[in-house]
Amino acid sequence: MTDTLTIALSKGRIFDETLPLLAAAGIVPAEDPETSRKLIIDTNHPHIRVVIVRASDVPTYVQYGAADFGIAGKDVLVEHGGSGLYQPLDLKIACCRMMVAVRQGFDYAAVSQPGCRLRIATKYVHTAREHFANKGVHVDIIKLYGSMELAPLVGLSDAIVDLVSTGNTLKANHLEAVEHICDVSSRLIVNKAALKLKYAAIQPIIEAFAAAAEQ
Ligand code: AMP
Repeated sequence: MTDTLTIALSKGRIFDETLPLLAAAGIVPAEDPETSRKLIIDTNHPHIRVVIVRASDVPTYVQYGAADFGIAGKDVLVEHGGSGLYQPLDLKIACCRMMVAVRQGFDYAAVSQPGCRLRIATKYVHTAREHFANKGVHVDIIKLYGSMELAPLVGLSDAIVDLVSTGNTLKANHLEAVEHICDVSSRLIVNKAALKLKYAAIQPIIEAFAAAAEQ
């Protein structure tokens, strides 16, 4: 019997940058999620399908076995905690940096000394909490779900913790990056039980992804 495999991906950059890796494993999705409203997309393999979910939900689908494997950014994995997930590969796609950013001209150095207190707006609550705890800076974290760049501009926070790629979004909003927290790239994540039960189907895909990611 052939195992059915379900792959969890998010739309946009991760989906686009995953296409060449899927192609290296001989997998071609039948539709583009940008133009299709379908959440379950067939592939050229009758037993392999792709489910389209929010980036932050990819680890959850894989953790509970609703998807056998998926691709998620390190940013998302740190927030999720990684429970139930095997993370065999850094795919080196969707690369960016997790940064602290403030309004241009804001004296961040002066207000981020040990013992200081800062208000931080972010989607990345765990990452931000750990970063400032390591610096000995007290923080009030304000959880946001998007458009973090607005928060310092309207006085909601002193700083934000967000992903920066080109830096264009910060610049367009008169913000500047003042601290590098970590580099971020996307990882292959595999459900631990699926890896054992569907090893013959999953292992060749991991190997094809590994070879393609090395190029
Ligand atoms: P940029 O203007 O190129 O620096 O991109 C910054 C915006 O894109 C911010 O809103 C980030 O949250 C988002 N962003 C940048 N890189 C990534 C990534 N790899 N994954 C998810 N969001 C990203």
